[in-house]
Amino acid sequence: MTRFTLLFFVYFLIGCQATPTGRKQLILRSEGEMANLGAQSFAAMKKKGNVSAEPKANKAVTCITHRLLVAMDEKPSDWEVRVFEDKSPNAFALPGRKIGVHTGMLDLVENQDQLAAVIGHEIGHVLAHHGNERISQQLAVTGGLAITSLVLSNQKKNRQTNQLIVAGLGIGAQFGVLLPFSRTHETEADELGVRYMAKAGFDPRQAAALWRVMQKASGGGAPPEFMSTHPSNSTRIRRLSRLAPKFMGDFGAVKDRPSCF
Ligand SMILES: [Zn+2]
Repeated sequence: MTRFTLLFFVYFLIGCQATPTGRKQLILRSEGEMANLGAQSFAAMKKKGNVSAEPKANKAVTCITHRLLVAMDEKPSDWEVRVFEDKSPNAFALPGRKIGVHTGMLDLVENQDQLAAVIGHEIGHVLAHHGNERISQQLAVTGGLAITSLVLSNQKKNRQTNQLIVAGLGIGAQFGVLLPFSRTHETEADELGVRYMAKAGFDPRQAAALWRVMQKASGGGAPPEFMSTHPSNSTRIRRLSRLAPKFMGDFGAVKDRPSCF
């Protein structure tokens, strides 16, 4: 057995766990550490001064997030959701239960269910630990030495490791630059989002409808940012359309429909 085979064996023994969909994933960082990094990044983004206090937008986003979280037995007070003044139709999630929604996304959606699809998708990224997994994968591929010290002795992280972590959070070198998640993460977040929205009483068919609106908004030109960081295509719309019927039972079982718009 080579040294590297042995190392990978050790990593997988320590760091393998499953996402809410049952997919096995590599997790090498602690939840607490990820939450700290997410909170720090989110605080820096808020400091840029474009947090929106517009009551209508905030009410809608808070109301939808609250419904989604309660339906998933999550405590809403553990989460922080902010509206950011930004024309690009985008949204993002950071470890530590932080979510940001751009005003451009609020302008784009046609109804509360489509916004629930966006927020449910972002909650899915957080609850499936995609930030942690991305960092863990990057460390496993490029940070062999750094990871050894982390796993075996938990020493102080060196500069290279810190850079990997910032990149892994998906915010790039400068705050506010969102890096794409992998296709696996996007597909999983889509599925979790549809599952969550149906349980919370939002129409799961509106997830596919949202992507059609996104596609139309791009009008053949440059795709909206949410679309480019979240690769969209007809395959994705088809997949979401196929997914919705599976969750119509959950949706139908909710007697008090949300009224967030
Ligand atoms: Zn995503």
